[in-house]
Amino acid sequence: MNVLVINAGSSSLKYQLLNVERQELLAKGICERVGSAESFHKHGLDENERVIDAHMADHDDAMALVLESLTSGPAKAVDSLAEIDAVGHRIVQGGKYFDRSVLIDEDVVAKIDELAELAPLHNKAALMGIRACQKHMPDVPMVAVFDTSFFQTLPPKAYMYPLPYELYEKYAIRKYGAHGTSHRYISERAAAVLDEPIDELKLITCHLGNGCSISAIDHGVAVDTSMGLTPLDGLMMGTRCGAIDPAIVPFVMEHEGLSPAEMNDLMNKKSGLLGISGISNDLRSVRDASEKGDERAMLAYDMYSNSVKKYIGQYIAVMGGVDAIVLTAGVGENCEKMRRLIFTGLQPLGIILDEEKNRQRGFEREISADSSQVKIIIIPTNEEYMIARDTYEIIHERVGMEDGVHDAAEILM
Ligand code: AMP
Repeated sequence: MNVLVINAGSSSLKYQLLNVERQELLAKGICERVGSAESFHKHGLDENERVIDAHMADHDDAMALVLESLTSGPAKAVDSLAEIDAVGHRIVQGGKYFDRSVLIDEDVVAKIDELAELAPLHNKAALMGIRACQKHMPDVPMVAVFDTSFFQTLPPKAYMYPLPYELYEKYAIRKYGAHGTSHRYISERAAAVLDEPIDELKLITCHLGNGCSISAIDHGVAVDTSMGLTPLDGLMMGTRCGAIDPAIVPFVMEHEGLSPAEMNDLMNKKSGLLGISGISNDLRSVRDASEKGDERAMLAYDMYSNSVKKYIGQYIAVMGGVDAIVLTAGVGENCEKMRRLIFTGLQPLGIILDEEKNRQRGFEREISADSSQVKIIIIPTNEEYMIARDTYEIIHERVGMEDGVHDAAEILM
């Protein structure tokens, strides 16, 4: 089954076409700056990638262009749209409605729309992606895969905020988490690498990229995670501040004369590594500057590692121990120096990094010392594959249920 995975942002549309049975990536690309005069489209695999200047007024135009690139031209992946069996959409906020991926129908669309209040940019963009697919591929079944659903297993003591209870009742203010598809994927792969059933493991999974989150997964069930009502909470990130004293918010607003939107912007786009270093949100640039003696870059680097270290400690306490710590995303997979800083000093907790293994490059691998009680594992994340796999499973389940239906596309007709 060929599944088109769509990740629609407010001004972008990322996609991959995957064959699920063969676990093969057939094509990928991105439409950027959709809606502006500088919009462009990148399509193709590695050396075949090409950049196409194309005006895209909206996601509908972008989708038309994506389908054209997938089916024609030098980097086409399939001969016709008939070879795309299903579409999987990444949706950021599934609220309390969705604790798993679902087949998209009008009721699901209405709920995604209703939840847009909790993730305005993301859910509205996803809806544009869904509507564009419905228009261009009306008979192809679609599945919604939510970033939040993996965390619907959190107990109330983890997802509630100590605010007046009425705010939870009125506005559904609680922790929802994010990056759930990534945490689910790396926890499953870590269990496979350890060759142990996931329901016998205590795992701490760390997604450390430009956005950062960390989760406690106890016997295969997520019990806590660092992102909150929104992806601003938790760890220090590239441009996001993560958890801070909440009293800072009204203080800065008053003293700097900022509106709620401006304050939100400051915390989401001007803080984190960028805010502290004044150099970049990119850890590589911050690392280079710190190695040249830039003090603010050194501070940013130290704060980032300390922020991860503190959450590891918290989640060991939450689960009463840990069998393995799993790292992924740009920083987790690639930055040996940051990994060294994070694990320095954790020997008393039975966590020992192997310096040599930490230096080596590779795919899925263990980097803890043989004497370490707790394994440290690197798993490159693959959210697109997880979305394609969920889509495949849901479509198969449906096709199996419908008597006499043999073609996935038939089930929505
Ligand atoms: P992501 O959001 O997963 O794409 O991760 C982006 C972050 O990963 C940026 O801060 C990059 O600086 C960082 N990153 C990517 N490759 C490396 C590398 N080789 N060494 C250090 N940091 C890296």
